[in-house]
Amino acid sequence: MSGGTHDLGLGTRVVTAGRRPEWTAGVVNTPVWRASTILYDDVAHLRASGATDTHHRLFYGRRGTPTQWSLADALTALEPGAEGTFLYPSGVAAIAACLMAVLSPGDELLVPDSAYDPTRSMATGLLRRFGITARFYDPLVGAGIAELIGPATRAIFIESPGSLTFEVQDVPAIVAVAQARGLATIVDNTWATPLFFPAIAKGVDYSILACTKYVVGHSDVMLGSVTAAPGRFAALRDTSFQLGQVTGPDDAWLGSRGLRTMSVRLRQHQASALEIARWLDARPEVSRVLHPALSSCPGHETFARDFLGSSGLFSFALEGGDERARAALIDTLDHFGIGYSWGGYESLALPVDPARYRTATRPDFAGPLVRLQIGLEDAGDLIADLDRGLAAFRIARG
Ligand SMILES: *Cc1c(COP(=O)(O)O)cnc(C)c1O
Repeated sequence: MSGGTHDLGLGTRVVTAGRRPEWTAGVVNTPVWRASTILYDDVAHLRASGATDTHHRLFYGRRGTPTQWSLADALTALEPGAEGTFLYPSGVAAIAACLMAVLSPGDELLVPDSAYDPTRSMATGLLRRFGITARFYDPLVGAGIAELIGPATRAIFIESPGSLTFEVQDVPAIVAVAQARGLATIVDNTWATPLFFPAIAKGVDYSILACTKYVVGHSDVMLGSVTAAPGRFAALRDTSFQLGQVTGPDDAWLGSRGLRTMSVRLRQHQASALEIARWLDARPEVSRVLHPALSSCPGHETFARDFLGSSGLFSFALEGGDERARAALIDTLDHFGIGYSWGGYESLALPVDPARYRTATRPDFAGPLVRLQIGLEDAGDLIADLDRGLAAFRIARG
């Protein structure tokens, strides 16, 4: 894909990226190449192969085949200015490898208080065991992050919007501080995807996706990726090879399959989620809607300035009520499954309790929170369902 790929529209890039002729070999989709052993012509060929860079060359199954390279290449093409992408067997594995590529014993990592809980656990568990400390910060700190940087600070983790509570972070302000102080920036870009937030173009060093969500899009594969800015890919790849990270070709193939429709799916997730968020915002049983495109969401102005669109995941706080009344709402819903993860074609509802995890900030809402993943069903059916759920909540609340 030489020259001008990044001038193409997003929908076009999603369709064409990563389909190199040498990988597709005459068919539309890069086939599934399953391999451990790669066979060499003779001993000289074997020796020569070991002495050269194995990037995009068959060497041994753990280093991938065209099936994994094709998806990684496509994800790189979606982040204008990026150098390369490495795939992982889950989003959490991607976060772990990226942090291990960047941090060393004695380093400090800044983590937003709104980070995905397994990210927090990694920072306070695995990283601490290896002598790395984590400092949690208010996700709305913006340029004020400069005051939190100490002599040991090595990297700033960003997740925007935050998990569960959707605070939108001022990424350009944080990146400016990080660059001035020589710190690496890592963003968990799962919610927006590069289509709605081109993180590398905004100056971020590493952009992470839980591809399990929108890239796969069908709730049937675990997959993660890290896309690196220029000069950052080699360290990521070396660490990932040393960790033995490899994604199965069947899962990578399903990731590529999902990716081809991602821009269309995201457009529908966006439209339906906005319609439902606005409907909830007008309901007396709802005290606050936490959707980045609504002014009631912390950091909404930053969202309006920096993002190209919104996806299908948001939360809302109930007006009063307890755990039991919230459960009455969720249990009444017919079209919303109850379960973890999101980004598939089907809607989900989940009770969430952010206060359990926070250490640097205290979220304060009038009632319990519900997180919704808005799928590709008709929005009218989902609204009718939520209307019944809110009626059940009213009765249970008393
Ligand atoms: C789900 C999720 C992850 C982790 O992805 P897995 O593939 O489930 O490991 C990381 N970050 C965010 C924001 C997520 O929602």
